[in-house]
Amino acid sequence: MRIGTGYDSHRFEGARELVLGGVHIPDHAGLSGHSDGDAVAHAIIDAMLGAAAAGNVGSHFPSDDDEWKDADSMYLLARAGQVLEARDYRVVNVDVTVICESPAIGPHVEAMRLRLGDVLRISSTSISIKGKSNEGMGWIGAGEGIAVHAVALIESQVDGGSA
Ligand SMILES: [Zn+2]
Repeated sequence: MRIGTGYDSHRFEGARELVLGGVHIPDHAGLSGHSDGDAVAHAIIDAMLGAAAAGNVGSHFPSDDDEWKDADSMYLLARAGQVLEARDYRVVNVDVTVICESPAIGPHVEAMRLRLGDVLRISSTSISIKGKSNEGMGWIGAGEGIAVHAVALIESQVDGGSA
């Protein structure tokens, strides 16, 4: 078994749709970024790739490559899963903390778990999403953007996880 951590942050940008964990959240400013700005997906990708010591979001999906402009981050997440598969790893579980003053994350947790589980082809019971406010402090408290922390545990498919 191997563990990896991921972190991402994006600035709110009113003109875009808000997508977090592959779920569209209505009536809220979206997130800036080269792809759809899905910081939950990007933090999970970094945790998965980190666990495999296989690079990060930027090295696999460079922001100067037009292929990833406005990309659906669920596609990037699926690709990251394939990077792990090519190294004979699979995701055991993922735990995510989303830090923002708005939107409220709780009402969307189940939909995100189902969507992420679907894309990663693991049970939604292996995916945890937790929302927190920043108690009004700093740039998160001022509502400028969102930060996401993620950890992922992966295991080798070859030897049942001893690697
Ligand atoms: Zn990102």
